[in-house]
Amino acid sequence: MKLKIIDSGSSGNCAIFTDKENNQLILDCGIKYEKIITHINFEKPISCLVSHEHKDHSLAMDKLKKCGISVYTHSNFTNGQMLIINNVWKVLPIELPHDKDTTSYSFIIYNTIENKTIYFATDCTQLPQLADKKYDLLMIENNYDEETVATQTSSGNSQNCGYLRHLSLEYVQSWLNRFANKPKNLVITHLSNSGNISISKIKTTYNSMCDNLYIAQKNMEIQI
Ligand SMILES: [Zn+2]
Repeated sequence: MKLKIIDSGSSGNCAIFTDKENNQLILDCGIKYEKIITHINFEKPISCLVSHEHKDHSLAMDKLKKCGISVYTHSNFTNGQMLIINNVWKVLPIELPHDKDTTSYSFIIYNTIENKTIYFATDCTQLPQLADKKYDLLMIENNYDEETVATQTSSGNSQNCGYLRHLSLEYVQSWLNRFANKPKNLVITHLSNSGNISISKIKTTYNSMCDNLYIAQKNMEIQI
């Protein structure tokens, strides 16, 4: 199965899974519709999961619906209740805190064609305890690390406190440490544009915690 990162970060988030039978699933649609559509094959029914309705995750959802794509948002999810999409994707939504008015859904996604298990979480302040198994892919946001934020604050360069609505490297590291099984692929997404996180620290922290580490970038393709 292929994962294509269309974009990642506060300017907009969108990724697309394509399995070996060309079934596609869009994960968040916070970029222009015209851009997303160039990556869609329309061979099979297409669905899109939206973690939450902040624009950088949901911008294109109305236009995607108009062209026949099934878009799943908060109103379609019940925490912990499995959805089966097109008989291909089994999706377990898990609701997580984000900011004071918003929760974000994370998803355990199982592809029945290739037997792959994925967990995706973004825009949240904590992660759930998952079953300890070998995940084919963990796709987790990292918005800041505490050391970099502390350095920025002491040098007077601190940005607003938006990062506090997101996950820190230290939090994700201790969450990952609880797994006896390393994930096959770990994709770190949604890095802040404000320089709140160190890329070299991401690499040194996570390299030994997964088989393959990726830092999400525009147009990156990953085989999982
Ligand atoms: Zn958000």
